[in-house]
Amino acid sequence: MLLISTTHRPATDLGYLLHKNPVRAQEVELTFGAAWVVYPEATEERCTAAVMLQIDPVGLVRRKDGAGSLAQYVNDRPYVASSFLSVALSELFGTAIAGRCKERPELVTTPIPLEIRVPVLSCRAAEERIARLFAPLGYEVSTSRLQLDEHFPEWGESHYYDVTLRGTVLLRDALRHLYLLLPVLDAKKHYFMDKTEVDKLMSKGEGWLANHPEKDWIVRSSLGRKPSLMREALEQLANIEESLEAEENTVDEAFIAPEESATEPKESLHTKRHNRIVERVREIKPQSLVDLGCGDGKLLRQLIKVQGLNRILGMDVSYFEIETAERALHLDEASPHIRERIQLIHGSLMYRDERLEGFDVATVIEVIEHLDQARLAAFERVVFECAQPKHVLLTTPNREYNAVYELDDKFRHTDHRFEWDREQFATWVERISEIYGYRAQIEGIGEEHEAFGCPSQMVVFTR
Ligand code: SAH
Repeated sequence: MLLISTTHRPATDLGYLLHKNPVRAQEVELTFGAAWVVYPEATEERCTAAVMLQIDPVGLVRRKDGAGSLAQYVNDRPYVASSFLSVALSELFGTAIAGRCKERPELVTTPIPLEIRVPVLSCRAAEERIARLFAPLGYEVSTSRLQLDEHFPEWGESHYYDVTLRGTVLLRDALRHLYLLLPVLDAKKHYFMDKTEVDKLMSKGEGWLANHPEKDWIVRSSLGRKPSLMREALEQLANIEESLEAEENTVDEAFIAPEESATEPKESLHTKRHNRIVERVREIKPQSLVDLGCGDGKLLRQLIKVQGLNRILGMDVSYFEIETAERALHLDEASPHIRERIQLIHGSLMYRDERLEGFDVATVIEVIEHLDQARLAAFERVVFECAQPKHVLLTTPNREYNAVYELDDKFRHTDHRFEWDREQFATWVERISEIYGYRAQIEGIGEEHEAFGCPSQMVVFTR
C-alpha cells in the first residue's frame, strides 16, 4: 500500500494530476495481480490517494512469472512496497509520471506540498539508508521500524519500516522517485532485466539521478545482477553529469583572450581555425568524418559543404550543445538526403564508443584542454586505440601566446583545465604517434609572434 496526500489548495486537484477521479475506485489488472486507487479523503484542504496492491503469490509461482527466488507460496510480496508496487504505479499513473495533465497543465510544473506514506517498506540495509535515498531529493524523512509481531514483542524487530516522506516537490518527480527507489531498498526485482531497464533508469531518473549522491548504489542495486547493464547505466549517468558541468560552463562564456573577445570580431581566431581545418579536410578527400566535441555545430556547417563527404557525425557530451547544433544545421527541416549524411549524437570521449569507429577523419577542435589532464589517457585510448580514424585533426591553444594577450598565468577560457606550450604539445604528439602508430605534422594557426609562435596549434595525425 502507498498513500499520497497533499494540502495544496484545492487539494482535490490531486485527482487531475493523477488522472484518477476521487469519486470512484479504479482498478488495473496486472500480470501478477491487481491494483486499485481509492481516495480515503478528498476535501478542499486535504486529499489522499491510496494505492492498494493485491498480489497473487500462488499465481506467481504457477506462471513462473520471473518469480525465481520467490518460488514459495508464503512470502512478503503481497504487503511490502517493492518492484511490484513500482510496476503498479507506472500502470496506474503512467500519464502523471510522464508529466502530462490537460486539465491542470500548470500544476505539472508546480511543486506542491506532498506527504507520502509507505506503511511497509522492506529495507535490509541500515535504517539511515532510507533517508540517504530520499533526503537529497528534498524530502523530510521519518521512519519507524516495525516489530515482527506486535503480539510477540520478544520476537524483536523486522526489517520493515513505516516511512513518511514530506516535501514540496512536483508530483511527477515524486512518482518517479518512488518508482525507481522503492525497489532499490527492497533489493529484489521480480522481473527479468534487459536493456530497457537502463532506459527506465535514465528516463525516470532524468533531472535527479545523475546528481544523486547515492547514484552508484541506486544503479548497482537496480541492475547489479547484470554487470554489463550496470556499467552502461553508470556511463550514461557520467555523460549526463559531465554535460551538466559543460552546460554550467557554457553559460559563462568568458573568453578572456582579446582576439576572441568583443573588442575585435569575436570569432576571428575561431573562424581561422575552422577554415584551416576545412582546407586540410578538402586535401585529404575523406568520405566520412566525425567531429568529436562538435559544440554548437559551427564547423559541421562548413563541413557539410565539402563534396564527397557523404557521412558526417557530430558528437558532444553536452545535450545543450547538441540541441544548439541541431538547430544551427536546421536538421528538423532537412531533406532525407541531408539527414542521411549528417547525424548528431550525445556521447563522451571518456568512454569507448563503437559509434565512433570506422571514420576516415576525426576532428577534435579545442576540446582536449577541457578534459582533466588525468583523464586524457582515457581520451587517447578512445580515439587512437578504439575508434582508430585514418586521420585525426586536433587543435589546442598555445599557452606561450597568452603573453601577447597579457593574461599573466590565466587560461584563455575559464573552463580550460590546462594549456600547453609548443614543446609540451610536440612531446604529446610524439608520444601518441609512437604508441598508436600514426605519422604527425604540427602547424600553427593564427598570426605568428616571433617569440611565442601562433595562438593556436594544430596537429594532423595519419595512420
Ligand atoms: N569543437 C567545437 C567546440 C569546442 S568547445 C568548436 O570548435 O567550436 C569544447 C567542446 O567539447 C564543448 O562543446 C564541450 O561540451 C565538449 N566536451 C567537453 N568534454 C567532452 C567529453 N568528455 N566528450 C565529448 N565532448 C566534450
